[in-house]
Amino acid sequence: PDLSKQSGAAVQTGPDFDGNGRPRIAFEDVSKQFGKNVVLNDLNFNVAKGERVTLIGPSGSGKTTILRLLMTLEELSGGFIYVDGDPLTHRKNDAGKRVAMKPKEISVIRKRIGMVFQQFNLFPNMSVIENITEAPIHVLGQSKDEAREKAKKLLDQVGLGDRAEEHPTRLSGGQQQRVAIARALAMEPEILLLDEVTSALDPELVGDVLGVLRDVANSTDITMLLVTHEMQFARDVSHRVMMFDAGHIIEEAEPDAMFSDPQHERTKKFLQAIL
Ligand code: ADP
Repeated sequence: PDLSKQSGAAVQTGPDFDGNGRPRIAFEDVSKQFGKNVVLNDLNFNVAKGERVTLIGPSGSGKTTILRLLMTLEELSGGFIYVDGDPLTHRKNDAGKRVAMKPKEISVIRKRIGMVFQQFNLFPNMSVIENITEAPIHVLGQSKDEAREKAKKLLDQVGLGDRAEEHPTRLSGGQQQRVAIARALAMEPEILLLDEVTSALDPELVGDVLGVLRDVANSTDITMLLVTHEMQFARDVSHRVMMFDAGHIIEEAEPDAMFSDPQHERTKKFLQAIL
């Protein structure tokens, strides 16, 4: 049997693979279409615990859709996504048929995943610290005091310890994005999804945001899936790079190999165009 096509198939890559046979993330025969536009077709890949994987590829190749499917912001058209072996939105029943999970079951798994978007998406009517404590209080059931204490530590970590009571609109884009990172981390996710988090920023604000993410990568074992055009950053933090074209992984490698010695013609062209 083709093990890569079974849920919970063992993965060989990844720094912290614990050998229990369950990758942190498994995509199994995943398909996604918008109307007639088939964006992903029978996509299979695994991500190990603690592994940081960068998705690269031309615009429209399906990278953001992959993150949004994991975040359950888009509905799967076909196939299965597993988190630690647990089905996210669909499972196979005993007869091998594909059935949708119940909303309650989905929300349990979904809580293990955090996402930071290109456009920050902070709640505009709340202070910085309220943005961060909202979900820990209402979703994780933390007390207000506990959530605030943790939020303050996170704000210190992202260099905004003195801005807790400020309104987000008074912050620069880079500061808002650091709040968004703190907000995602406050949910203590096992998986962090980063979708072009510096693309909307003025160039001089990019460095601080990437610096914060470097710290997160170096100080935690959060599994990360990143879409980014910052190739030096990708090279520094990721264990593996996957090159997408038209919804397929056409090449994957460790970042040094991918960036200095790409094998596929399309990867060469893509990297030449952006580097
Ligand atoms: P990438 O992140 O690689 O640029 P995307 O995942 O954003 O690619 O998009 C892949 C394809 O899916 C594109 O053709 C895009 O137009 C389409 N698409 C993405 N989101 C939607 C949507 N909500 N409705 C319709 N089409 C969409």
